[in-house]
Amino acid sequence: MDTVPGRGRSANSWIVGDDEEVIVIDPGTDAAEVLDVVGDREILAIICTHGHAGHCGAALDVARRDEAPVALHPGDRHAWREIHDSPPDIDMEDGGKFEVGGVTLEVMHAPGHSRGSVCLFCEELDVVFTGDVVSETGPVARADGFPNWGRQLDAIGSQVLTLPPETRILPGHGEEFTVATAEKRFDSWVAAGPDRQADGAEVDPE
Ligand SMILES: [Zn+2]
Repeated sequence: MDTVPGRGRSANSWIVGDDEEVIVIDPGTDAAEVLDVVGDREILAIICTHGHAGHCGAALDVARRDEAPVALHPGDRHAWREIHDSPPDIDMEDGGKFEVGGVTLEVMHAPGHSRGSVCLFCEELDVVFTGDVVSETGPVARADGFPNWGRQLDAIGSQVLTLPPETRILPGHGEEFTVATAEKRFDSWVAAGPDRQADGAEVDPE
């Protein structure tokens, strides 16, 4: 598994696979940076954890090289259309699966930050990619607050905290942490409520 380096990236991008083939999760906004890390490996698919520009702005540009399909949950089609002229290729749904390099990514619908937000769980790698569902600092807001605080908390509780505690959480913004850590912090996030924006809390402005 690779990350795409580069300070000031709009969001974290992840590349899962082996020496031959990869899946790109959240390409961000700079296709060249992503393709640089992919190298000559074949891109099987681009998966967008949700439709916000900072995470999926470069999706079609990354997809073009290998004519790879782009996957998005249909709940985020509206957000997608604001930044792209052509539609995504795959409508993801809860329980859907992608296979790459001998591992499986399972789609978990986790709405709240956006209607079509998903997490991707990889049991073989003990990781879950959470997009903006949850970061180390808690549920991720938009610039103008939380679109649906209650649903986002429900999604964290039912989809993320039910994973094995040692699972690494690889979020759309900020540093990685674990399900065990999220579990410890969850009550304080609930208690803080949707109106708090603690200093340093992750926000997806775009
Ligand atoms: Zn977002």
